[in-house]
Amino acid sequence: MTSLPAQPPPRKLGLVIDLDICVGCHACAVACKEWNTGGAAGPLTDLMPYGAEPDGVWFNRIHAFEVGHGEDGRTVYFPKSCLHCDDAPCVTVCPTGASFKRAEDGIVLVDEDLCIGCKLCSWACPYGAREYDEHAGVMRKCTLCVDRIYNETLDPAERVPACVSCCPVSARSFGDLADPHSDVSRKVAERGGYDLMPELGCRPVNKYLPPQARRAAGPDAPAAGTVAAPPAETGSKFLRWLDHMLSR
Ligand code: SF4
Ligand code: SF4
Repeated sequence: MTSLPAQPPPRKLGLVIDLDICVGCHACAVACKEWNTGGAAGPLTDLMPYGAEPDGVWFNRIHAFEVGHGEDGRTVYFPKSCLHCDDAPCVTVCPTGASFKRAEDGIVLVDEDLCIGCKLCSWACPYGAREYDEHAGVMRKCTLCVDRIYNETLDPAERVPACVSCCPVSARSFGDLADPHSDVSRKVAERGGYDLMPELGCRPVNKYLPPQARRAAGPDAPAAGTVAAPPAETGSKFLRWLDHMLSR
C-alpha cells in the first residue's frame, strides 16, 4: 500500500467550479482530452469511435441534472474530474506506489511505469474519477495538466489546466487552495464553496460553488452589475441532493 505525504502540502493546487454559470458545453472535456492525448490526430473517442457505443478515456466528464419542477425547474451541469483529495483512498489502496500525492503541491498522479492495472484505485475512489486505459493497460486520471502549469515555455497566462483556459464562461478557476488569500480561496469563502460528499472524509481539494437563486425579472430586478442574494438554503439544498444522487 502507498503512503500519503507525512506533512500537509504547502500548496494545494486545485479547481473551483461554478455550478451557477457552467453551461454544459463540454469545451473543458474536449480541451482536456486534446491536451492529454498529445494532440494526436484522430477521433476523440478511443474505442469504437464510429460504432454504436463509442467509448474511451475522459478525465473530465460533464453530467446534467434536472432540478425542480415547472417554472422553478432548471438544468444544472456538473463537471467532474479527480478532486485531488487530501486523504485520497486511491493512493493508500495502491499496492505498487503508482498512485501518489505530491508533497510539494498536493496533485494526485499515477506513475504509469509502476501501474499494474489492478484497478483497486478505481474501486477505492468514491467519485468515479479514475479512468482505465484499455490500450495502455494502466489507470489514468486528471493531472491538473501538470505538464502545462509548470511549463516555462508557455506564456504565463496559459500556465493553467487546459479545461480552465478554454471555458467560454469562466466557470472554472485554478489556484492554490491552501492560500486563504488566493483568488480561488476568496471565491470559495464568498460563495460557500463546497466539498463533494464531505461525509466520506476524503477531503477533496477541488471545490464547487453552488447554483444561486434565479435573478428576478421586471421592475424589482436588481440593478445591472448586482446579483440577487440567494434565498437561504438554495445552494446547500441542491448540493445535498447532488450528494444523494452521486451516492446511489
Ligand atoms: Fe483519488 Fe478519486 Fe480523490 Fe481523485 S477524486 S484523489 S481519484 S479518491
Ligand atoms: Fe495502483 Fe495501478 Fe492498481 Fe491503480 S490500477 S491501484 S494505480 S497499480
